[in-house]
Amino acid sequence: MEYRKNDMVTVDIEDIGMDGEGIGKAEGFTFFIKDAVIGDRVEAKVIKSKKNYAYARLEKVVTPSPFRTTPKCPLHRACGGCQIQAMDYERQLKFKQDKVKNNLLRIGGFSTEELDRVMEPIVGMEEPFRYRNKAQYPIGTDKEGNPVAGFYAGRTHSIIAGTQCYLGREENQEILETILTYMKENHVPAYEEENGKGLIRHVLIRNGFLSGEIMVCLVINCKKPSAFGYLPAQEKLVAALSSIPGMTSVSVSINTEKTNVIMGRDIHTIWGKDTITDTIRVRDMEHDMVFTGKDLTFSISPLSFYQVNPLQTEKLYSLALQYAGLTGKETVWDLYCGIGTISLFMAQAARQVYGVEIVPQAILDARDNARLNGISNAAFYVGKAEEVLPAFYNGDTAGVFSDVLNRIEQTPDKNTALHPDVIVVDPPRKGCDEACLNTMLMMQPERIVYVSCDSATLARDLRILCDGGYELKKVRPVDQFAHTVHVETVCLLSRKSPV
Ligand code: SAH
Repeated sequence: MEYRKNDMVTVDIEDIGMDGEGIGKAEGFTFFIKDAVIGDRVEAKVIKSKKNYAYARLEKVVTPSPFRTTPKCPLHRACGGCQIQAMDYERQLKFKQDKVKNNLLRIGGFSTEELDRVMEPIVGMEEPFRYRNKAQYPIGTDKEGNPVAGFYAGRTHSIIAGTQCYLGREENQEILETILTYMKENHVPAYEEENGKGLIRHVLIRNGFLSGEIMVCLVINCKKPSAFGYLPAQEKLVAALSSIPGMTSVSVSINTEKTNVIMGRDIHTIWGKDTITDTIRVRDMEHDMVFTGKDLTFSISPLSFYQVNPLQTEKLYSLALQYAGLTGKETVWDLYCGIGTISLFMAQAARQVYGVEIVPQAILDARDNARLNGISNAAFYVGKAEEVLPAFYNGDTAGVFSDVLNRIEQTPDKNTALHPDVIVVDPPRKGCDEACLNTMLMMQPERIVYVSCDSATLARDLRILCDGGYELKKVRPVDQFAHTVHVETVCLLSRKSPV
């Protein structure tokens, strides 16, 4: 049997692909169908056909799966943000638990028995909508010439108009409508990607969930401010935005480059404060996730890296803290520490924490956040984890530790930091560098806590650590991103006692 473009097929969906697509077979042929849910029988139109598999477009759900649910968002198929909104949340959680398990099996080479012993059930969300504290909307112009805010259609740069994203806060809609009304009334043009003309490129909104504070940053294509500000009729926009309850900071970010990078480095506050604050609460993950009262407050600027799902982040970090098993005597390294969120969690229960992060501004933020919370037993170093850690281990203080940002921090204590009790890593998707893993092994910490946003690289790295003398004790996925295919995982490894 051969399939051609635009052929119609009827397929029973039996599996879920890596990108959340439905997978089904018909006459020995495998079909990948975006938006089809496992358990559906669907009619689909072939888009692209290969020798024994094809991609097809969902045309009609013939028999809906028991796992199919009505998506809240009418744009969920066109928008690139959510991949599995049509799948009910319980089934999404099972999909993510299975995804982690399969990667540990296939890539990590762990056995089913071992994984059944160490894997704990995924930590889901209580409310899988309205969970994001950060939204970035591209601004464009529709066919009638009106300014629109919206979302990029999956993998493209065409804007689908819509001011309501169900993953973000409800108040974002009012903020966007306010900005669009201001643009219309004052003839402020949206940026045009094709020719680099126009003014407003993006709108960034950040919400402090516990503080209730809101930050709005308009990314603009404007080099120099006029005598009246960065924007035409700026006072009108400021008046309208500042009357929205919770509004704390309004700023502009200058970006005149022809680039996909959203934010420009240059930020000017045009109303209110430069930053908003938010609080992350430590939870007792062994006892119903109750709050322990050890809250941490963070100061967030438009450019700061900050976890986007604050409620699940509390659970993720609290789990990392539980796995670290701290009693107050320990020395801890926190590699890939960002603005020091995990480091400061650990510092409350350890003797000393050392954080390492590649972005200099994040290190400055981490130090500020330590001060803000009255924490003095956390030190932060800028550099690549795979360079800072080996340099310290090899006593090469002339290298990375002579960097200006590192020189003003006390260098790690040789007696305790060379053989720490715990090393925490939270690397980006590509995982840890081998030089970093090798140094970790040589430092022989009692425990390693691995926080991962990509279970494939996690599996690869866990294999290296286990072959190097560690035992996998616990694995627990945490869902930070409902309706997307992403899943975070926290793992505990402990050093095997020498025989
Ligand atoms: N633990 C932090 C950040 C995790 S994201 C938090 O939860 O907020 C991963 C971080 O690793 C990012 O801040 C990124 O800038 C940093 N990073 C990426 N490559 C790195 C490297 N080679 N060495 C150190 N940090 C790196």
